[in-house]
Parts: sequence; C-alpha cells; structure tokens
Amino acid sequence: MSFSLENLLRPHILGIKPYSSARDEYSGKEGVFLDANENPYGSLTGEPFNRYPDPYQLEIKEKLSFIKGVRPTQIFLGNGSDEAIDLLMRAFCIPGKDNIILLPPTYGMYEVSASINDIAVKKVNLTADFQLKPKEIIESVDSCTKIIFICSPNNPSGNKMKRQDIRSIIAGFNGLVVVDEAYIDFSDEPSFTNELNDFPNLLVMQTFSKAWGMANLRIGMAFASEEIIRILNLIKPPYNISGLTQQKVLESLEQANKIEELVQKVLNEKDHLSKALEKLPFISHIYPSNANFVLVKMSGAKKVYDHLINDLIIVRDRSKVVLCDDCLRISVGTEEENQKLIGELEKYVSQVL
Ligand SMILES: *Cc1c(COP(=O)(O)O)cnc(C)c1O
Repeated sequence: MSFSLENLLRPHILGIKPYSSARDEYSGKEGVFLDANENPYGSLTGEPFNRYPDPYQLEIKEKLSFIKGVRPTQIFLGNGSDEAIDLLMRAFCIPGKDNIILLPPTYGMYEVSASINDIAVKKVNLTADFQLKPKEIIESVDSCTKIIFICSPNNPSGNKMKRQDIRSIIAGFNGLVVVDEAYIDFSDEPSFTNELNDFPNLLVMQTFSKAWGMANLRIGMAFASEEIIRILNLIKPPYNISGLTQQKVLESLEQANKIEELVQKVLNEKDHLSKALEKLPFISHIYPSNANFVLVKMSGAKKVYDHLINDLIIVRDRSKVVLCDDCLRISVGTEEENQKLIGELEKYVSQVL
C-alpha cells in the first residue's frame, strides 16, 4: 500500500466548504472597500490596522519560495509552528481512535496538542545518544497511526538525526511524517525541503521564532506537497497571521542575506559557552548541539537550577525528562548573559560544592 492523502485524511475533511472571507471573494488591492464591515476611519493608534490582512500571506510566500526553493503553493504559514501541529492533528487523526508516534525526549507541544484533540500517543524513545530507532518506530505503526513527528535538530537534546534514518522512516510509513526543523538554521545539515519531491508523505516545519529572532510575532512555516498545503489552508482560521506580523516578516525577509551572520554570532557564543561549561567540575557531559542551546549533564541539576534561579538566571530544568536525568537545557545568550551564567556557576562551585 502506498501513501494516499485521501485515505489518510479524516473522511469529513474532504467535504468541507471553506469559509469565504471578503478578501477571498475580491482579492484586488484597488477600490472602495465596503465589503468587510471594517472601520473606514482607521484605528485609535493612527496606524493602518483597520483592514483585514491577506488571508494567504502571498507576498511572504513569494519571497520564501525563492529562499527555500519550493513553490509558493507548497508553503503554509501558521500562528507559530504550534498552529500547524494542531491543524495536522485535526485534519488527519480521528479523536478517540487514531494515534501518532512521538520519539522522546522531544518537543512537548506534540503531546499537548494530541491530548487536546483526544488523540492517542505511542512513544518510541530515542537511543542513549538521542538518535532514531527506525526499525522499532516502523514496527510500532498500526492501522490507526496517522503521523510520526521527528524533531531534527532535536529539542531538548540539540543534536541532528541521521539523515538516512529519517529517510527510511519516511519511506517505510504510509502516513504523514513531520520533520520539525525549528533549529535547522543553526545546523550544517541541508533541510528536508530538498526532498519534498521524493516523498509525498513528508511535511517539513520551520519557524521564525529561533534563528530569525521573531518569536514574539508568532509565525511558523510548513512545507509539503500542494495537496497537503491545500488542506491546511482549508481548515485554518481565515486571518491567522496578523497584518503587522506579515509586514515585519516581509521586512525581515528583505534582509535575508544577513541571517547567516546573526546565526554565526550565536554559534560563536555557543562555542565559548560550551568551552567554559566544560571546565566546571560538576558538569559531566555537554551533548553535541546543532541548535542554539546545549543540553548539559551534571551532578545535582536541580540544585544548580535553584541556585541559578536565585540569581535570576533562568535555564530549563529537563532532569525529569526521559533520557535527560540530571540535565539542564541552556539557551545560548549574548556574550554578556553567558558570562553572567558562567560567573554564577563558578560561584556555585566555590560556595556550594
Ligand atoms: C521553538 C520550537 C518550535 C517553534 O514553535 P513556534 O510556535 O513557531 O514558536 C517548533 N518546534 C520546536 C521543536 C521548537 O523547539
């Protein structure tokens, strides 16, 4: 049996008639607009927020299409990647019946979204060095398994997955495989967007929240076949990306040539931070990272966490997460922030240990 979008979707999805917004029915830019019950006088702030934004964010998709090497019709934009995760569950998984496969330790939002949608979760843990177990993953698929979520580079471990393992999972599964590349800009690995033509059951997620520094604006990207993207557009809220966000993202994309420099700055700081962390006696391992954070194993992670909180340095305690015993996840900060962190950890050595 091979991949068939029609068979994989919840049956009622194909029959949905989309909400037809005013901007769907007339998409021209010129004219006297009396069709959307907007306030013609503008907003109290004086900014042009009174008109509804483009529901399909076509200008952004045109620009992204060049940068990412996919057609504009292969791009979905969501209110953060989190919106795409939720929409995928709602499109493919029948509540109380279907399931998804997650590969812990991984990003928490997949499971939260599954719970909200009453979708069962099967788990196949990563190996001790946070790699995939392709054979076990494929063996755990049953007739109700609709989606497998692979996060690469992975959160919270930071490493990238072996490309061949990802490929063999996509090739060995008739359902949808989501490759979450939130941290791909920090990695030397090429994106799986390059492989969309080979795999009709692949969806790649990226985001403006990390390398692009726009977490506050809430915009995430999904890349897939035109038929999958059409479904996401069909079931999304009509105006899911605000006009202000669209404008700022466009401005950002016009300077896309500078993103590498910004990423390099973070990577240089990650190097400095890792070298300084290595010297601390209570730290036993710094996991290899292809992202903008490091997972660090130590003795007494919770104690270290509390010590840092006390000094208003906030890292992520992952010590209760499977395969992450005694680990903290530390985002790479500015040079100054990282020095402050290291200073406090040195104080911890002299005062507490
Ligand atoms: C941060 C992160 C995201 C980004 O989510 P947004 O909703 O786009 O901010 C997605 N996936 C992973 C694994 C992340 O760590």
